[in-house]
Amino acid sequence: MRRSPSAADFAAQRADMVEWQLRRRGIRDQSVLNAMAAVPRELFVPERYRKRAYADSALPIGHGQTISQPWIVAAICEALALEGSERVLEVGTGSGYSAAVLAMLAAEVITIERIEELAIAARQLLAELGITNVEVVVADGSAGFPDRAPYEAIAVHATAPSPPRTLIRQLAPGGRLVIPIASDGADMLTVFRRLEGKLDPMTGEGLQRTVIGPCRFVPLVGSEGYPE
Ligand code: SAH
Repeated sequence: MRRSPSAADFAAQRADMVEWQLRRRGIRDQSVLNAMAAVPRELFVPERYRKRAYADSALPIGHGQTISQPWIVAAICEALALEGSERVLEVGTGSGYSAAVLAMLAAEVITIERIEELAIAARQLLAELGITNVEVVVADGSAGFPDRAPYEAIAVHATAPSPPRTLIRQLAPGGRLVIPIASDGADMLTVFRRLEGKLDPMTGEGLQRTVIGPCRFVPLVGSEGYPE
């Protein structure tokens, strides 16, 4: 029987992942590369997929959900343009992996998951790793989390039919929302930046929109997403 990979094997795979999947594919933000080189992705993957933790793909995490491909996590984090002082809202905790990466890039992360079992497992793992600046909330995140708004950055890890207006309203002036938006056939990873001054989420006034590229995500299920 082949032995299971050791922590050192995983560390080597992680370094290769950062080099081949991220840096050589255009991720430039050094703080994002450092964070992805530090977070042990293998711990966020179910036991039976652990050997594939650093594969260039999404992997199942149960409940019909997935942990995103490493490149996608990096692309989202880079698009958020974090400097370290921000309060970040994340929608779609899933395994907690991207929350652990964001925790290294921002001051405070509030992450929302609608499936309670996933949220509980993520909360426990983040605590075991000594990550103290992430709060895991069980709720419908399609309408954001107004209690702690505004946010300098919002990351959504599930595809919305259109940009959720409530989320846009929770952006601080200058804040960035990164979200996959459904557009005939493909999901388009999109950045909405709130400009200083007047904001009208209905017309898009006061918002700057930049498309990063096609991607594939699970649907955002909720009041400003898709029905159950
Ligand atoms: N970022 C995760 C991957 C998340 S997959 C990781 O690193 O593992 C997307 C997650 O979004 C799923 O767990 C799904 O349950 C969750 N989700 C979908 N709609 C949601 C909503 N309205 N509010 C909160 N979570 C939602």
